[in-house]
Amino acid sequence: MPPESEICGCNGVCKGTILAAIAGGATDLGTVRARTKASTSCGSCTGLVEQLLAHSLGDAFRKPASRPVCGCTELAHEDVRRLIRARGLKSMPAVMQELGWKTSCGCATCRPALNFYLLAEWPETYRDDPQSRFVNERNHANIQKDGTYSVVPRMWGGMTTPQELRAIADAAEKYQVPAVKVTGGQRIDLLGVRKEDLPRIWADLNAAGLVSGHAYGKALRTVKTCVGSDFCRFGTQDSTGLGIRLERRLWGAWTPHKVKLAVSGCPRNCAEATCKDVGIVCVESGYEIGVGGAAGMDVKATERLAKVATEDEAVEIVVAFVQLYRESANYLDRPYKWLAKVGLDWVRAQVVEDRDSRAALVARFDRAQAIFQKDPWAERTAPEARAAFTPLAHLAAEAAE
Ligand code: SF4
Repeated sequence: MPPESEICGCNGVCKGTILAAIAGGATDLGTVRARTKASTSCGSCTGLVEQLLAHSLGDAFRKPASRPVCGCTELAHEDVRRLIRARGLKSMPAVMQELGWKTSCGCATCRPALNFYLLAEWPETYRDDPQSRFVNERNHANIQKDGTYSVVPRMWGGMTTPQELRAIADAAEKYQVPAVKVTGGQRIDLLGVRKEDLPRIWADLNAAGLVSGHAYGKALRTVKTCVGSDFCRFGTQDSTGLGIRLERRLWGAWTPHKVKLAVSGCPRNCAEATCKDVGIVCVESGYEIGVGGAAGMDVKATERLAKVATEDEAVEIVVAFVQLYRESANYLDRPYKWLAKVGLDWVRAQVVEDRDSRAALVARFDRAQAIFQKDPWAERTAPEARAAFTPLAHLAAEAAE
C-alpha cells in the first residue's frame, strides 16, 4: 500500500500521515487519533490504523484488551455499565466521582454514553440530560449541510393515509420546504426546514396525528414491511399488521444505536428483512426471526435467532431482544457488533430458550416504555419551548423592540 493510500475516508488521512505520526512518537491509537484525526469519526478504519501501529512498532505496540470509554477514564464501557448497576450509581456526577473520572464534567464522548446507560438502568429516577446528547437528538431533527433540518414523521409499518399525505403536503407548502423525499425506511422526509420553523411544523403535523419518526435518534427508526397476505398472492401472514404492531410497541425507546426492523410476508423478502437489525420472514408455518443484519458501512445478512408459530411469540421475542441489547450493548454498537461480542447463543438462551428470562426482559422494557414512550415533538411545540429553536439574532431583535 503506497503512502498516499487513504486510510481514513471520513477525514481524508492517508497512510503516510499516520506513519509520520508514528515515526514522530505516537505509540498508541489515541495519540495517532489526536495527531492525525484518523479513526476519529466512524471508526471503521480503526483496525487499519492498529495494523500500521503493529507493523511499525512490533512488540512495542500493545493493543489494549478492552478500550477505555474515552480519555476521562481507564474503564471500558462494560465496566462502567457493570459498576453503575452494582454500586447503584444514579447520576452522572455520582458515576464520575465514584469511578474516578479524570475530568470534572466528562467530554463529548463519555457524556452521551453515560446519559444512555443511566437512562437504561434507572428509567424511573434518572432525568435525561439533553446537553449530553448529540445535536440531532437535542433538536429532534437531523441537521443538514446548510444548517437547515430534516423532518420525518413516523409512518407505522410504512402505512399512511390520504389525510396524512395531505397534512405533509400542506406543511411542505406552508413552510416552503425545498425537498420532499421518500426514504428507504418507507416514510417521507421533509428536507431543508429552518430551525425556527421546527416547532410550528411539528405542531401542524401533530394536529394531523403524526408523531416524530426518531429519524435522528439512537432509537427505533422504522419497521419496514411488505403488503403481505392482505394484498399479495404470495403472502403467508399479515406482515404489515405485524410490522405496525412491533413499531407501536417499540417506538420511543432509547437504544445504544439506531435500530431498524423489517417484516416480509414470504421468503421472497420484498421488505429486505434479512439485512436489518431484526428481520422477520413470514412462512406458512410461522415466523422466522433473524437478528444482526446490516446494510450500511458493513453489509451482513441476519442470523436465525428463532422460528416461532405465533405472532404473539414473535413480538415477545423481538421485544426481549431489544431490551437485552439496551441492557448490555456498548453505546454506539449496532446490534450486529454487539452480537459479535456476546455471541448469538448467549442471546438465544435469554430471549428464546429461558421463558422466565424473556418475560423479565419484556417486563423491564414495558416499564421503561411507560416513561419514555412520548412524542418529543409534542413536548416542544408549546410557545415557551419554542425559544430554544429561535436564532439568537431574532431574540436579540425582539428584545431591542
Ligand atoms: S415478500 Fe412475499 S408476501 Fe411480501 S410482497 Fe413480496 S412476494 Fe408478496
